[in-house]
Amino acid sequence: MSMTNAGSNSKSEVAFAEAKQFIPGGVNSPVRAFKSVDRSPLFMKSGSGSRIVDIDGNSYIDYIGSWGPLIMGHAHPEVISAIQEAAIYGTSFGAPTLLETEMAKLVIERVPSIEMVRMVNSGTEATMSALRLARGYTKRNIILKFEGGYHGHADALLIKAGSGIATLGLPDSPGVPDNVASNTITVPYNDLASVQAAFEHYPEQIAAIILEPIAGNMGVVPPVAGFLQGLRDLTTRYGALLIFDEVMTGFRVGLHSAQGRFGVTPDLTCLGKIIGGGLPVGAYGGKKEIMAHIAPSGAIYQAGTLSGNPLAMAAGLKTLELLGRAGVYDELERRSARLEEGFRQSAEEIGIPIRINRVGAMISVFFTDQEVIDYASASTSDLVRFKQYFSHMLDQGISIAPSQFEAWFISAAHTDEDIELTITAHREALKRLAI
Ligand code: PMP
Repeated sequence: MSMTNAGSNSKSEVAFAEAKQFIPGGVNSPVRAFKSVDRSPLFMKSGSGSRIVDIDGNSYIDYIGSWGPLIMGHAHPEVISAIQEAAIYGTSFGAPTLLETEMAKLVIERVPSIEMVRMVNSGTEATMSALRLARGYTKRNIILKFEGGYHGHADALLIKAGSGIATLGLPDSPGVPDNVASNTITVPYNDLASVQAAFEHYPEQIAAIILEPIAGNMGVVPPVAGFLQGLRDLTTRYGALLIFDEVMTGFRVGLHSAQGRFGVTPDLTCLGKIIGGGLPVGAYGGKKEIMAHIAPSGAIYQAGTLSGNPLAMAAGLKTLELLGRAGVYDELERRSARLEEGFRQSAEEIGIPIRINRVGAMISVFFTDQEVIDYASASTSDLVRFKQYFSHMLDQGISIAPSQFEAWFISAAHTDEDIELTITAHREALKRLAI
C-alpha cells in the first residue's frame, strides 16, 4: 500500500455538496461531517478487512470501524455469508425467531450481569429503555450521569454529553425540556466523592447511575482503581440501580466485556455496536427480577417493529462466535499494545506532548501533557493540533475518528504491517506538527 493518499477527493466533495441539499449537514449522524477538523468528509464505497476505499478510489487503514461494531474488520466473509443466508429466508417477520433466543443465550452466557436480555435497534434505544426500566422499577426519577459520558440521544441523557456534542462544542441540546434536564445530575467521571455528595443530597430520589465503565466518548478514559466498585457500593447502599452502558465496551475489551474485565457487576447493562456485527442493533439486560418488569411480563412498556431482526441477529451471532475463537482478544491486545508503544516512542523522540489512554482495542491520543481522567482534563487537549494531526494522518492513508473526543478502534483484521504503517504515519504527522 502506498503511504501517501494525496489522491483527489473531488468525488467526495461533489457528493457532500449534493447531500447537504437534502440531508441536514449532509450526514445522518453529526460527527461524520468532519466539521471540527475542517475537512470535507469522505464518502465510502467499500471496505475489506482493515481497509476502506472512498468513492475517489483512495484506500485507508481504518480505525473507526463504523464507530466500534466492526471488531472483526470490514465485510468479514463469514459475517457477510451469515447475513446472506439469513436474508434468503426473509428480512423480518415481526414474530419470534429461533435466532433471538440463540442471541439471548449467548449474551447471557458471556456478560456476567445479564440474566435476561431484550433486543432493540440502537444503543440509544438500549439506554433510553434501561432508564425507563430503572425509573419504573425504583419508582424514582433522578438519573446520575458523568460529564462527557455519551449514552445516545435520548432527552434525559443529552446533558453534558460527550461524543458529537463535545466535538461540536454545543451547549446542552435545545429541545430537551427543562423538566427532563432537571432530573439528570452530572458529576465528573472518576470522582467518587461527587457521587457520594449527590446521594447525600438526594438519598431517595436517584433511580440509577449510568456510565460507560471505560469512557469512550470523551476519548478513552479508563476508570481509576476503585471507582466502579465504589459506584457499586453506593448504589447498593442507597437503593439505586447501577447501569453500565457497554454499547462501546461490550465485547470490545474482552469476551465478558468491561464488567468481566474489572470484576464489578452492574444491575443493568446496555449493549450495541459489536453485537449487531455492523447491522443496527442494541440490547439491554440484567437481573431477571428487574427485567421481568418489562412488558409483556411486566408493566413497563418498550417495543420495536424490527427488534430482534433476523439479519442483525445473524450478523451479531457470527461476530460473537468469531470473537469466541481462541486467541482473538490476545492478538487484539498485542497489536493494540504495539500501536500504543510505537506512538509513545515517536512522541518522545519528536518532543510533542501527548497522552495515550488505551484499554484493550480502544485507544485515544490526547494532545495534552496532563493525565486524562475526566472530561475537564480531556478538554485541556490542543484541538488545533489534533485537527492538524488528523489531516496529516488522513493524507497518509490512515482513517481515525475526526475528533479529539472519540476512541479509535483496533480490529482483528489489522495486521502487524498495518500497525507498523500506522506508527510510521503517526511519527511523520508529529514531525509535521513540530515544524
Ligand atoms: N452509548 C455509548 C457508550 C455509545 O458509544 C453510543 C454510540 N457511540 C451510544 C450509547 C448510542 O448508540 P447508537 O449510536 O447506536 O444510538
